[in-house]
Amino acid sequence: MKEYDVVIGLEIHAELKTKTKVFCSCKNEFGSKPNENTCPVCTGMPGALPIINKKAVELCIKAGLCFGCKISNYAVMERKNYFYPDLSKAYQISQLVHPLCIGGQIELASGKVMRLNRIHLEEDAGKLTHISKSVGTLVDYNRGGTPLIEIVTEPDFSSAEEVDEFLKRIREALVFADIANCKMEEGGMRCDVNLSLKEKGSTILGTRTEMKNLNSFKSVSRAIEYEIKRQTEVLNAGEKVIQETRKWDDAKGKNLTMRSKEEAQDYRYFPDPDILPIAISEEDIAKIASEMPQLPQARRQKYVEEFGLPKYDAEILTTSKYISDYFEECTKLLNSPKKISNWIMVDLLKLVKEQEEFVFPISAQHLVEIIKMVEEKTINKTVGIQLLEKVIETRQPPKSLADKMGLLVTISNEQILELLQKLKAENTKVCEDYKAAPEKVVGFIVGYVMKNTGGKANSMLVKQLIPEVFG
Ligand code: ADP
Ligand code: MG
Ligand code: ZN
Repeated sequence: MKEYDVVIGLEIHAELKTKTKVFCSCKNEFGSKPNENTCPVCTGMPGALPIINKKAVELCIKAGLCFGCKISNYAVMERKNYFYPDLSKAYQISQLVHPLCIGGQIELASGKVMRLNRIHLEEDAGKLTHISKSVGTLVDYNRGGTPLIEIVTEPDFSSAEEVDEFLKRIREALVFADIANCKMEEGGMRCDVNLSLKEKGSTILGTRTEMKNLNSFKSVSRAIEYEIKRQTEVLNAGEKVIQETRKWDDAKGKNLTMRSKEEAQDYRYFPDPDILPIAISEEDIAKIASEMPQLPQARRQKYVEEFGLPKYDAEILTTSKYISDYFEECTKLLNSPKKISNWIMVDLLKLVKEQEEFVFPISAQHLVEIIKMVEEKTINKTVGIQLLEKVIETRQPPKSLADKMGLLVTISNEQILELLQKLKAENTKVCEDYKAAPEKVVGFIVGYVMKNTGGKANSMLVKQLIPEVFG
């Protein structure tokens, strides 16, 4: 049996986070009443004229900047003509010859570089709901005309694992940069998988299929494994892979022919005569670039290399921009990244772990104040955690709260010195032992002071004061 190389290229769609649609001013909103957010433009009434949403253009450019694409100075919206009931205009406005972003790449953890071909701006179609043969099909045009970006990759992938990592990186960046929500379950991010096999080592690509209807990371992986197996069997049986679009059925765990590419329409793309070409200046690009947050991968690298954090911490702290920003705000107030990381990962995240979008119930300033108090030993860690809970409950500043609650270590130097003198007078053996080998009795002396202050003395301070009395 022959051995094959797997070749995969992706087409990824993500819905942009704009308030309104891309070519009209209808709301871009998920979950409205059917056909509520529609107008003559997005339903394709004759004579209706489109406008273009600047924000959508900017977000597409921003996506390009995330992945190192070249941003075009001249971009054109084109009509892709085809009829389908969810597309009442009978054409989709998209980009073919002059997309907004060209090229780009993402480097995987292995060091392998995955090339992007382009990122372009287009509009989504409406949504069909098939009820039954007798009732028929319902159509909701709310989604029609909402802005999408399409990210097209080169056929650089050779496994489901690579695709999975890549998709996670795309999603992470788009969410971090506030470009898209990328909720796959809601259709906010969709991925079509183009897959072919070729003889091992050959440079000639085989015939590919395109798989659609993949709406979770898991189904993308399963669908790839399935299609590799299916094509291998076809080739091993001496047959040819047919170029076609196949629909993944996640419940059945298999895919089925949707339409064959042989009979694929010629879309007759042409520049939309109602939308002027988009001119993008270097200043426009620089302005968008200046609004870009640092992306998670760069942040992880900074956390490991500059802050000396373990990789694990860096991963957790970059699971959302909110956590990462919060952590960085803390490090600006206190240069103890690992301590801060521990408090966030152990003590704060568990408080919000059930919530999808959360805000920590304590400000970075207050958290840092508590961490400082523990570091300076005015309270110990256990008391620190109690204090954290109280601050969350009362929203009061940690220091004054700890003071009110009597949590602070309040034993003065004089009181410590007095206790040390008392011990010296009572216990001559300790004095002799201290003279012989101080390190052997320091623990005992500190323990004595602690016992006689109800544990409220600062042990560091006690250690500092011992030589004054015993030395
Ligand atoms: P189309 O316009 O028909 O969708 P494209 O050339 O734009 O075709 O390619 C679409 C996707 O298919 C891209 O992600 C590309 O990397 C991928 N692709 C192209 N040829 C192959 C192949 N032989 N095997 C796997 N993927 C491929
Ligand atoms: Mg395609
Ligand atoms: Zn509209």
